[in-house]
Amino acid sequence: MSDDPAQVYRDVGVQPIITASGSTTMYGGSRLRPEAIRAMNDAATVMVHLEELNREAGKVIACITGAEAGLVSSGAAGGLLLQAAACIAGSDPVKMSRLPDTQGMRNEIVIQNTHRFSYDQAYRAAGAELVGVGNGRSCAPWELESAINDNTAAVAYLISPFTSRIALTLPQVIEIAHAMGTPVIVDAASRLPPRENLRKFVAQGADMVVFSGGKAVRGPQGAGILCGRADLIEAAAANASPNRFIGRSMKVAKEEIIGLITALRIFAGEDEEAETRAYIRMCRQAVDALVEVPGVEATVEHDPYDYHIPTAVIRLTDDWAGPGRDDILAAMQAGDPPIYLNSLGGPDEMAVDPFNLTDDEMETVIRRLREELVGC
Ligand SMILES: *Cc1c(COP(=O)(O)O)cnc(C)c1O
Repeated sequence: MSDDPAQVYRDVGVQPIITASGSTTMYGGSRLRPEAIRAMNDAATVMVHLEELNREAGKVIACITGAEAGLVSSGAAGGLLLQAAACIAGSDPVKMSRLPDTQGMRNEIVIQNTHRFSYDQAYRAAGAELVGVGNGRSCAPWELESAINDNTAAVAYLISPFTSRIALTLPQVIEIAHAMGTPVIVDAASRLPPRENLRKFVAQGADMVVFSGGKAVRGPQGAGILCGRADLIEAAAANASPNRFIGRSMKVAKEEIIGLITALRIFAGEDEEAETRAYIRMCRQAVDALVEVPGVEATVEHDPYDYHIPTAVIRLTDDWAGPGRDDILAAMQAGDPPIYLNSLGGPDEMAVDPFNLTDDEMETVIRRLREELVGC
């Protein structure tokens, strides 16, 4: 590695940024763990049989998640597509070769309308037809029950704090779907940490669960973790690369599989309380530097229900006389280095997410925020 790792990007004319918005694919995702980098370097130079590697990596995922089986997928989004393919075509080569044409197959995936989101295109890409239930603000058990029929391949469930308050709970959905012999497939892509989630949804009875490997796990940015029932994981693997079916266009390389497994093992064993304390300490630094700015309210917020990583939230109050939130966000992005803050809160709120920040970067973020908010 060179003295300045950013040089490889400068060589192609790309300017490094500071990502204070959490793990966001558009802003670089996450930093790969050093242990995973080393493992990937080694793995890239040795030939292995992919079927054997997939099988053995799957056993590690199964052990860590408590599921019967596992598979490394191409991002969580690739895992969603494989969930749909597995439930629709199973391991039947005639059906697998026809996807995404699902004519004559059981191809409906039932999903609460509160769980419809942009990533559900991954289900449709495998040929699923989504059947939305509920009015988008709530869903009654009978609405879900009456939508499941002979054409239903699965019920999809999104683990998302912002919708889970108004949706049927996962245990409720599992009870209804299983009573009718239908599998439940879960997208928990961004719900790590808490680490207990690695086992929680499987333990609740979900038939397949997907997590991102490139978010908080800090494995390869393009990797995902799929786990669940042995027969369904076998079908997912049959549909996936290196086999020449619908998953072939979502190849996972041998060194990515090793990188993911290395990162996942370390992630699963880390001390979550110590990690949270370190994040709170970083956030407090930002809050302390901004708390006395007139018209600004700065607090460390940690609501593990919505988002497990503490953030430094900056709120512009009625007394704030400076530029609006969006102008501040734009000025931070236009600066040198460009800085991306989290803007998921209210219209007068922005947050510094410590997840992707080194201590030096946190200092730069604080200095730039003070420049924009107080001029020095
Ligand atoms: C991030 C995310 C995905 C996609 O995950 P990748 O690993 O980037 O493919 C899918 N679903 C949800 C809810 C996510 O937050």
